[in-house]
Amino acid sequence: MPISPPRKVGFVSLGCPKATVDSELILTQLRAEGYIVAPTYKDADLVVVNTCGFIDAAVEESLDAIGEALAENGRVIVTGCLGAKGDIVRETHPKVLAVTGPHATAAVMDAVHVHLPQPHDPHLDLIPPQGIRLTPRHYAYLKISEGCNHRCTFCIIPSMRGDLVSRPIGDVMKEAENLVKAGVRELLVISQDTSAYGVDVKYRTGFWNGRPIKTRMTELTQALAGLGVWVRLHYVYPYPHVDEVIPLMAEGRLLPYLDVPFQHASPRILKLMKRPANSEGTLQRIRDWRAICPDLTIRSTFIAGFPGETEAEFEALLEFLEEAQLDRVGCFAYSPVEGAKANALPDPVPKEVREERQARFMAVQEKISAARLKKKVGQTITVLVDTVGPEGAIARSAADAPEIDGRVIIAKGGKLKVGEFARVKVTRSDAHDLWATPSGPRAVS
Ligand code: SF4
Repeated sequence: MPISPPRKVGFVSLGCPKATVDSELILTQLRAEGYIVAPTYKDADLVVVNTCGFIDAAVEESLDAIGEALAENGRVIVTGCLGAKGDIVRETHPKVLAVTGPHATAAVMDAVHVHLPQPHDPHLDLIPPQGIRLTPRHYAYLKISEGCNHRCTFCIIPSMRGDLVSRPIGDVMKEAENLVKAGVRELLVISQDTSAYGVDVKYRTGFWNGRPIKTRMTELTQALAGLGVWVRLHYVYPYPHVDEVIPLMAEGRLLPYLDVPFQHASPRILKLMKRPANSEGTLQRIRDWRAICPDLTIRSTFIAGFPGETEAEFEALLEFLEEAQLDRVGCFAYSPVEGAKANALPDPVPKEVREERQARFMAVQEKISAARLKKKVGQTITVLVDTVGPEGAIARSAADAPEIDGRVIIAKGGKLKVGEFARVKVTRSDAHDLWATPSGPRAVS
């Protein structure tokens, strides 16, 4: 089968250092997808012009550059700040193929794919550099390790997946970088135990872009925080070093969101569960975290009706819930998983009692959640847009992980774009979701 020659894209980059970074991201993505950057208009199949619209002289220079590219080549995609200034580009140059605003690598690549599709090469294109993802383009899960060193008695993961194996930090960061270059705006850090990252390799120093960096949660999150996207931490156990990431959250560098699966509050039940980092000072830890980062959203999961759980212990759990005022909580009635050690514990709780306790737990939490969300009514918050339809848009705030937490439903949000950050004013709430109206765009940088 004849192999088609690679497609060639010309590139004109104008404007400030931020625009240069945008150009670099687009050029990197073009190269990653096999496009060649053409040195002249004549050699190019299509030209991308990254514009500046800051002052009148820059607007004029950008419009002239678009005119020149159209005259010399004829097929032009415009991106950058001028693209965000109303219809000026299309009014002056109606023949341009597409116009996007700044920081829009994904939108530029979409336009390139439409107007200059790259022929598929089965020998080279097995997998894109950002990997194959099942999530929408604008958020992605970043798995940092596999397996687990703990032996919680209700869990069979270690027996299936083995002990903790941390991925090299350089590989994790490279993957995160590629995801961001491919248009991801939110990275969700996952593993069985995120706070244990690097324990298996004794926190050895790895390298990312030639820079030494320790294989450890704090150092990883510091590096991820520099990528300029939302970074959300899941499955964090309350080890002492978790305190190190709270200031990063308070500074706005990491999402102020911690997913900590507490599972129970009774020290005796936690011991029976063999939970990691099980300490009696949990409430004080939560208070300390919130003192440093008042906007912190805490998500957790619990098990009701664990073998041996007495009514008094369950009520202590409800008291903990009232005290802790967690934001997002799931509760499961204990279910005996085949092969789990907890099944052999004495005094199993009958199924109907387990289910009744779960329902009581959720009723308490629903009230807490509704009251906490009500406090947000009237506030203006930043959201990431997930879907847009004729009725409006559905988005998520810093407090909402995809699939498991609430949503922000934006009436009159039809003009928002999927994957963009927006500022919205919260108008209403219930026990899970918020309703809001747009109050202006916001780019993270
Ligand atoms: S529940 Fe316990 S044993 Fe299972 S994966 Fe989580 S920490 Fe490891």
